[in-house]
Amino acid sequence: MAKLIDGKAIAAQIKDECRDRVAGMKAEGIEVTLAVIQVGSDPASTVYVGNKKKACEYVGIRSLAYELPGETTESELLELIAELNGRKDVNGILVQLPLPGHIDEEKVLDAIDARKDVDGFHPQNVGALCIGKPGFVSCTPAGIIQLLKRSGVEIAGKECVVIGRSNIVGKPMALLLLRENGTVTVTHSRTKDLQEVTKRADILVAAVGKPKMITADYVKEGAVVIDVGIHRNENNKLCGDVDFESVEPLCSAITPVPGGVGPMTIAMLMNNCVESVALQQ
Ligand code: NDP
Repeated sequence: MAKLIDGKAIAAQIKDECRDRVAGMKAEGIEVTLAVIQVGSDPASTVYVGNKKKACEYVGIRSLAYELPGETTESELLELIAELNGRKDVNGILVQLPLPGHIDEEKVLDAIDARKDVDGFHPQNVGALCIGKPGFVSCTPAGIIQLLKRSGVEIAGKECVVIGRSNIVGKPMALLLLRENGTVTVTHSRTKDLQEVTKRADILVAAVGKPKMITADYVKEGAVVIDVGIHRNENNKLCGDVDFESVEPLCSAITPVPGGVGPMTIAMLMNNCVESVALQQ
């Protein structure tokens, strides 16, 4: 039977570490502040923003909420970002995605000062990751590295296969595994014979966005399987990109959905907020 990688417990551990560091900073008179901007009232975004606020409260980070109406113009949003970029008391700026259709997401994300880009989406931070310089790293893949390390999974020298090449998950995931000295292959919708490639993986990361697509036929015996996907199935229950029932008996360790990768994203956001203070100094 596979070992279950407990994302909930590891995320709690990271949040506690952040809380201790924030308390230490407070004792030295340093406050950590995150500005969270939401445009419109997309219900899923409201839930995510609420969860981020709660995590900030737990860790001791001051959060500033900017809940802007759906009709906010691109230039109004850019003005707010410019103001927050200039404020010395704001360490992190996060714009909740997706933005309404009339706003150019790329333009907005690029406008955030790279030293305050706690989501790690700014081209400067992506470039820094690419060439191994310090910077913010996208929270979900950074969380996956923590899941692996804190579960005692050795990455160096391992065959790592990432399914998906998005800017938010797949590409930074591949770069991080490479940084940890994994031998990395990135696959995508144009990959020929996907199963042949994924069956080579010692560590398989599924970020394909297709419910339960990765069945036992894609997995080598004894592999470590990380499931990034989040979907609701026909019974409104959460499931991932991996068909847990068929894959679990085959692999050595696996992340469940829910309770695997999901909780790590906010924990790593908190970690990035704490790190932001040092990066800005
Ligand atoms: P995207 O839709 O941006 O990317 C999906 C990737 O999968 C693309 O690179 C695509 O290839 C590839 N792909 C699609 N179909 C196939 C196929 N049949 N075979 C091989 N590759 C394929 O998704 P994201 O990266 O943003 O997210 C992936 C999943 O992770 C989603 O389920 C999302 O909900 C979840 N997620 C979870 C998070 C968490 O906190 N747990 C955070 C972020 C995402 P191509 O580039 O060629 O189109």
